[in-house]
This record gives sequence, structure tokens and C-alpha cells, in this order.
Amino acid sequence: MQQINSHQWRVPLAEVEFGPEEPAAVLSVLESRWLSMGAVTQAFEAEFAAFCDAKHAFAVTNATAGLHLACLAAGLGPGDEVILPSLTFVATANAIRYTGATPVFADISSLNDWTLSPHEVKARITPNTRAIMLMHYGGYASNMPAFQTLAERYNLLIIEDAAHAVGSELEGKQLGTWGHTGCFSFFPNKNMTTAEGGMVVTNDDAAAEKIRVLRSHGMTTLTWDRHRGHAFSYDVVELGYNYRMDELRSALGRVQLTRIPAGNLRRHQLTEQYRQAAAKRLPGIQFPFADHPGTSACHLMPALLPEGTNRAKFMGMMKQYGIQTSIHYPPIHTFSGYREQAHELRLPVTEVVGQREVTLPLYPGLTEEQLNWVIDAAAQALDACSSEG
Ligand SMILES: *Cc1c(COP(=O)(O)O)cnc(C)c1O
Repeated sequence: MQQINSHQWRVPLAEVEFGPEEPAAVLSVLESRWLSMGAVTQAFEAEFAAFCDAKHAFAVTNATAGLHLACLAAGLGPGDEVILPSLTFVATANAIRYTGATPVFADISSLNDWTLSPHEVKARITPNTRAIMLMHYGGYASNMPAFQTLAERYNLLIIEDAAHAVGSELEGKQLGTWGHTGCFSFFPNKNMTTAEGGMVVTNDDAAAEKIRVLRSHGMTTLTWDRHRGHAFSYDVVELGYNYRMDELRSALGRVQLTRIPAGNLRRHQLTEQYRQAAAKRLPGIQFPFADHPGTSACHLMPALLPEGTNRAKFMGMMKQYGIQTSIHYPPIHTFSGYREQAHELRLPVTEVVGQREVTLPLYPGLTEEQLNWVIDAAAQALDACSSEG
């Protein structure tokens, strides 16, 4: 399998994997000359819906646009509050703000479970709370049974940011299909890619109709329907957007989706190997999500450095060894652009993770030799960086 994107690193953080099928699929769309809103996108949506057992799936230009549509389908607007984690990518919170609603940050469960704490969420519910936005960190499930109970009791909608979670499940049910809506990302560093791209899924017919219309300018009929002679004109029923995916990217997505089962299995095996090697050779480093319920897509390999480790120096040394690392995530409530939404807010567990987390390389093409280089380098870097503040 051809691997791209690894030029300057001995071990990159993530890697796109294409076989000959991906370029062939894109080329065949180019040759067809039907480039957007067509049969390929419809097939991709049907296949994705079947894959995660969702009633409706909508391909969108990226997951951020998908999250915006999910917020609109939930009817969010000014005055509404949505409770969400701060330990996530900023797009999760931005999508809420696009509608004029207010993001309300809550802490994660523990240093082992980095998903939103149901207990902390409950403490932040007010008469204005309309929804809970969950993010399945690294593909590991949020506590869906507890959130469903809260949602029913307080009449809230659940939106799932499932950007990390293509193929993750809990109690035999795919993540992204538990809530009112779920959003997946196909950005190049995710478990499958369409370059830019995303998918919104829902089992709710009314939400589906809303998403269908808002994704395409608020129009009642689509170019594709008119092309097939199903309609000659259209009405515009509300202020919509152009959040559509094109046929080239849908073609890429159809091929990439077929690689998910084997790719996620390999990620799972590598995660276990990391845990075993680290238990022997990286005492002091903690890996979260030990014994976590469900089956994770294992999107990330997050690690918690020992207290007092100089993380910047650790990451700098890893870079010198040719190993790319990252931070997931600088907490949103610490950003200057979120000062107004997070005034003097303290989230103790999130802040510890935000300060000590390092993400190690993980992707299906990672070899055991490369994994051992990562462990060797981390052991040396850790030695050099311990107790330096
Ligand atoms: C990648 C990501 C997004 C945004 O996805 P795009 O497709 O790049 O818009 C949103 N939330 C999380 C948690 C992500 O990791």
C-alpha cells in the first residue's frame, strides 16, 4: 500500500493510506464530468448510513459545517445554552456559537476517562440549557446511558461530535447514532479521509429534512433532481448554506470507508502494543481509557506525562529523533477568543490533561519497528525532561 505524507519524519503522527483504488475512483468521476451532487454522493451517503446503521446520512463539506447543521437542526439560537467539553477541537464550540447559542464548558470524568463527566454536566444545567454536545475523545465512547438519562429528565437534545469515532461502538450501537444527530470528520488526519469532508447522521426524520434543506441554500429541490427530470423549479424556504460535498471527494470516501474495519482493527492492536511496551519501559507515563467500555476506533494514542515533566522539551527531543507528536488539546476555555464564554472558569481535570498530554504516532501503516523507535525515543526524552517544571 502506497503511503504519502511522511517525508520529513521517521515516524509521522498520522498517515494517509491510499491504494490504487482511490486515484482510480477520483479519475472516473473526472471522466464522467458530473462533479457535484450526483449518484456518487448518494451512494456514499447510503453506504455510510448502512455502515453505522443510521436512517439518514448527509455528506458535507467538512465536519465543522456538519456540526453547524446539527446545531441548526436542534433549533439552537440566541439565549440557548449547550453544555460541552473544553478538551476538544475548537470547532466543537465554534459550531454552537455560529447559531448565537452559548457554549457552557464542563469538566471531563477523570485522568483515565477523558470524556465529558455526566455529574459535571448535571451541575451546569439551567432553564436555558437546550442540548449536550458530546465528543468521543480518540474514538472512546462518552457515557451514553448516563447522558440519555439526563437528556430525558431535563428534555435536552444530544449532539455527538464523532469526528474521531468512525466505526466506534458502545453496547453494539455505533457512536454518532445515539444522539439527535452525529457528525463525522474526513479531514486527512482522521481514520478515513476525503481531503476536506464530513458526514452528519440522524435517525430523526424532521432533523434530516432540516439538514437536507439547509445544506443546499434552503432550496426545496436539488440540481440532481432537476437533471433527472424530477422537477423544473424550486422554492427557497429559509436561509440556507452551501455545505455540500462534491463527487470527487465522495468517490474517495466510498473507497476509504471500505478500509475502516481493517484499519481500526490494526489501530486497536497497535494501541495494545503501546500499552504493553510502555508498562515495561515508560514507567510514569499514563495511558488513559484503560478498560474503557465499548469498541474504540482508536483514532489517537494520547499519553499523560509524569507531573513536572517539561513537555515542550520532551516534544522537542522527540522531534530530534524524527518522531512527530502533538497535543490534544489545548482546552478551549483557555483561548483568548473564548474569554467571554469562559470567564474565570476552572476545569481542574481538563487543565491537568491540557498541560501534560502528548499524542504519540498511531495509524494502520505504523510498523512494530517504528513503534519501538517511538518507545525508545520517549524513554530517553523522559529521562532528560523529568522534574524540570
Ligand atoms: C477534526 C475535528 C473537527 C473538525 O473537523 P473538520 O472536518 O476539519 O471540520 C471537529 N471536532 C473534532 C473533535 C475534530 O477532531
